[in-house]
Amino acid sequence: MAWFKKTRKPIAATKEKPSRVPEGLWVKCPGCAQIIYNKDLTTNQQVCPKCAHHFRIGALERLRLFFDGGQFVEYDKELVSTDPLKFTDTKPYAARLKSTIEATGLKDAVVVASGQIDGLDAIVAAMEYSFIGGSMGVVVGEKITRAIERAIENRWPVIVICASGGARMMEGALSLMQMAKISGALARLDRARLPYISVLTDPTTGGVTASFAMLGDLNIAEPKALIGFAGPRVIEQAIRQKLPEGFQRSEFLLDKGMIDVIVDRREMKGLIVNALRFMGMKPAPIAAKAPDVADVSALPTAINDPAPQS
Ligand SMILES: [Zn+2]
Repeated sequence: MAWFKKTRKPIAATKEKPSRVPEGLWVKCPGCAQIIYNKDLTTNQQVCPKCAHHFRIGALERLRLFFDGGQFVEYDKELVSTDPLKFTDTKPYAARLKSTIEATGLKDAVVVASGQIDGLDAIVAAMEYSFIGGSMGVVVGEKITRAIERAIENRWPVIVICASGGARMMEGALSLMQMAKISGALARLDRARLPYISVLTDPTTGGVTASFAMLGDLNIAEPKALIGFAGPRVIEQAIRQKLPEGFQRSEFLLDKGMIDVIVDRREMKGLIVNALRFMGMKPAPIAAKAPDVADVSALPTAINDPAPQS
């Protein structure tokens, strides 16, 4: 006979009751480990109200926060990678692209749009980290280059909000060429005497840091953002030294003179507007504002039609 006899039946595993708390209502902050009400986070631009930890946000949300009234015109929405190398790693690049496009609703890792920021016309390219790590392939390169060219045409300032793991390996050397292509376009913008502001968010690394992210007339970073070229492990192995505390964070980079200023996301728009005004940007007079699309109704519909006389 056993020493102890179980008089009660063991507690049977109950069927999991559906939680009464809807999913995603509360978020644990990685900065202060406090539980934050998700709505508070949304009204606070995804910044922790308790410790000011900056959560990552998507490209479209960024643009909505940035432009007056959340209104903007998007460009080159349909540009998509053609997988020129027919690349395969753990899975074919074409399949990876397809599943990412379905998951994010975007065609590539950058969204380019124009609109007004506190009354000033501007073009903004916001990178999307959830699209293959915000990596820069041919499409990202082309879209940012076109954004700069559009800015030169319209005399707009350019703002790029970086969030990227670097060049896209699946497009090999073609993605590396985008570094030179964008840098060349930025040189033309500079010659046209138009401002370029780079906003570095968590994370900005690799080929993006090594090209346009650091070329701003003003390089602004969000607090505690990871900004660097190679990862710390690679650097430690290369230089055979222990890296200092806080290495590759915004604060360290500001201390070393790599960036100009660190700004809280909630004050970012105000700072950029002030900077653009300081750089000579003026609100467009309403009469001189050209429509984004040429008015086709004024053109003759057929070759034989006489052009409308004015
Ligand atoms: Zn917090």
